[in-house]
Amino acid sequence: MHPWSNDELEMLRDTARRFLAEHVTPNEKRWDAQQHVDRAIWNRAGDIGLLCASIPSEYGGAGGDFRHEAVLYEEQAAANNVSCGFQVHSGICAHYFAKYGTEQQKLYYLPKMASGELVCAIAMTEPGTGSDLQAVKTRAQRDGDHYVINGAKTFITNGGLCDLILLVAKTDPAQGAKGISLIIVETADLAGFKRGRLLEKIGQHGQDTAELFFDDVRVPVDNLLGGHEGQGFVQLMQQLPQERLIIGVSAVGAMEKAVELTAQYTKQRHAFGKPLFDLQNTRFTLAECKTETHIARVFIDDCIAKHVRGELDNATASMAKWWCTQKQCEIIDRCLQLFGGYGYMAEYPIAKMYADARVQKIYGGANELMKELIARAM
Ligand SMILES: Cc1cc2nc3c(=O)[nH]c(=O)nc-3n(C[C@H](O)[C@H](O)[C@H](O)COP(=O)(O)OP(=O)(O)OC[C@H]3O[C@@H](n4cnc5c(N)ncnc54)[C@H](O)[C@@H]3O)c2cc1C
Repeated sequence: MHPWSNDELEMLRDTARRFLAEHVTPNEKRWDAQQHVDRAIWNRAGDIGLLCASIPSEYGGAGGDFRHEAVLYEEQAAANNVSCGFQVHSGICAHYFAKYGTEQQKLYYLPKMASGELVCAIAMTEPGTGSDLQAVKTRAQRDGDHYVINGAKTFITNGGLCDLILLVAKTDPAQGAKGISLIIVETADLAGFKRGRLLEKIGQHGQDTAELFFDDVRVPVDNLLGGHEGQGFVQLMQQLPQERLIIGVSAVGAMEKAVELTAQYTKQRHAFGKPLFDLQNTRFTLAECKTETHIARVFIDDCIAKHVRGELDNATASMAKWWCTQKQCEIIDRCLQLFGGYGYMAEYPIAKMYADARVQKIYGGANELMKELIARAM
């Protein structure tokens, strides 16, 4: 048991594990082929309290804290599941509503997110800009009681199925970062809103990553998150550390899974008259991978505990993101090597993990950017 866990969290872990085994793992191949999960999985997850676990119960959440999110994300990693965008929905989007939403926005949206009635995405990245968030071009122009939105977003997780979007847009382009706001967009029957194709990726095939287009889309001014223009950039900067910690948590979970799978495989696969595991290179490789994974585990556990106490600073969250994802990719690559040709076969979990892992070094802020943030705090 992790130092931050307890009996209640282990019961939640058990629930998450059973949910993934019964309702997710058996469908993954089909979801990969269709490039999205079944919409109903969101409602199922909501029904048993797996969505918005760290949102207060008065807003429909489970009333937990970040540890409740971490348990689910660790179990997703252990189940080799990246298709369900729960992290973005519960771990990221819901917290924007909880932290900055007006009382009315919290009461209206959060219970629907917790039940799975609404699936949420956050749309920052545009075809022309990703890392440089201040340069977003999507415009939300005030027109009476509405905003008129024009622009395009890309690479949006949950983009294919989402009913709700937290849209990063410029309400006042002359103000630079201070002119950025988050606008709540409900997609149902929304004139001028279009989804592009589901993007074909080298991994994470079952995740409905998509392009989104806004062409004179009108939303009421009441959909401005928090009710004050120009707060978006600050809100993003305050929430990104949690997003980066989530990526670190899933990275460590994946490392643990890779080492476990590889130890099992090399013990049963024979070469030169003995198990691969008995070859010194295999033993040394796995010993090194296990050691680095353990170091990552101790570090991420410390980050989780700090975050629950409200003490995780930006630089440390950036360390967790870059270092754990770097190690995730290195370790999965070394493990895959020990599977030989089978490691390159899509039907082997280690091959899926290899392809799924690569983007971890890119999204949530490219790892180079993480190092900039760490250096800035020195
Ligand atoms: C599968 C997937 C899911 C995603 N989900 C979402 C989502 O849900 N919502 C969303 O808004 N976005 C999402 N993204 C977008 C993601 O956050 C961006 O791709 C990422 O921020 C990088 O932006 P970019 O692709 O425009 O690359 P660029 O900004 O063009 O950067 C390219 C590269 O340049 C280097 N670089 C950039 N800036 C610096 C710097 N300051 N110093 C040093 N080097 C630098 C880095 O190596 C970087 O990888 C997703 C992307 C993918 C692939």
